Amino acid sequence: PLQGYYTRRGGVGESGDFITSPEISQVFGELIGIWYISEWMAMGKPNTFQLVELGPGRGTLTEDILRVFKQLASVLSKCDVSVHLVEVSPKLSEIQAAMLTGGKVQPNPEDELAYMKGISKTGIPISWYRDIQDVPPGYSFYLAHEFFDALPIHKFQRTEKGWREVLVDIDPEVPDQLRFVLSPSRTPATQNFIQPEETRDHVEVCPEAGVIVQRLASRIEKDGGAALVADYGHDGTKTDTFRGFRNHKLHDVLSAPGTADLTADVDFSYLRKMAQGKTATLGPIKQREFLKNMGIDLRLQVLLQNSGDTATREQLLHSYDMLMNPEKMGDCFNFFALLPHHRLVHPDKKDEPESKCPLPPVAGFNELLLK
Ligand code: SAH
Repeated sequence: PLQGYYTRRGGVGESGDFITSPEISQVFGELIGIWYISEWMAMGKPNTFQLVELGPGRGTLTEDILRVFKQLASVLSKCDVSVHLVEVSPKLSEIQAAMLTGGKVQPNPEDELAYMKGISKTGIPISWYRDIQDVPPGYSFYLAHEFFDALPIHKFQRTEKGWREVLVDIDPEVPDQLRFVLSPSRTPATQNFIQPEETRDHVEVCPEAGVIVQRLASRIEKDGGAALVADYGHDGTKTDTFRGFRNHKLHDVLSAPGTADLTADVDFSYLRKMAQGKTATLGPIKQREFLKNMGIDLRLQVLLQNSGDTATREQLLHSYDMLMNPEKMGDCFNFFALLPHHRLVHPDKKDEPESKCPLPPVAGFNELLLK
């Protein structure tokens, strides 16, 4: 809690340790904003919703989404929107407050669940929390972009004697040096976190992600809404992805703890399992397919037409390539959604063929229908 990377450093952005899609291009957040509006419309335009972001980084993604909400103010005019940010880093929450409210926030409000409150530059109330459980219940759209990969994992290895946990130990030979060791016997984690049907020999499990997805699924089942998760990851196939980044370079995870971003690919098959059927799930779908379905090409054309100078146009094309190129972020990043069952299957018409009761397709996972 005091020496961890996100408490002390948390270097998102060009001058930090790693760069994320919203920091690369405004289009990323704009299309996500459109996704929420599209789902809000498909779910019958409820008269209030909370936008809940887990791990908002510098606040850029929320800023871009709120700009879209402002541009579409006439569509959202009868809807009461509030923003709820779940953030553990004191440093990043200050940066978010400056970005979103211009610094006009009230720390430690009477309402002790939120540790800070403010009003966005566009007039929307924003509250900050340390835990998803502190966010008030209610119809909510959740967002987790590059959040789950930041949560701690357990590593396991299959041996002739059964599963063993990979643990961190102090190297007896070299002072101040850490090393990986295998547990001599089973541990509580080997007994609880490995799925019985597991076929891999090396596995990484993030139980904290599992708990959070269970909470999201329960909240969506009870109060309605949807969750959009975007991250680098796989669908239960990869084995050894734990790594560190410092100043945009790979960094040994065991050296200088607390000074580098530690990350592991998100296992979407595990997230799907942890939703426990309380919600439907969609994806994972590759970032380039999701953004294409959301109309990124059209948006790029408009921005190119509206930009007068060559430098801006080059920057737009460069950032498009970063997001979409399969060798850059296009293929390794994935989108995954939790949605109420009734959003995909009409509750009264479960047994009828789909064509008889068409529900609007979910944008991003299908082509966006602009009607
Ligand atoms: N979504 C942002 C930032 C991703 S970095 C972007 O795309 O740019 C990860 C974010 O998660 C940071 O804001 C970090 O402080 C936050 N974070 C890390 N662990 C967390 C935890 N356990 N609970 C809440 N937030 C956490």
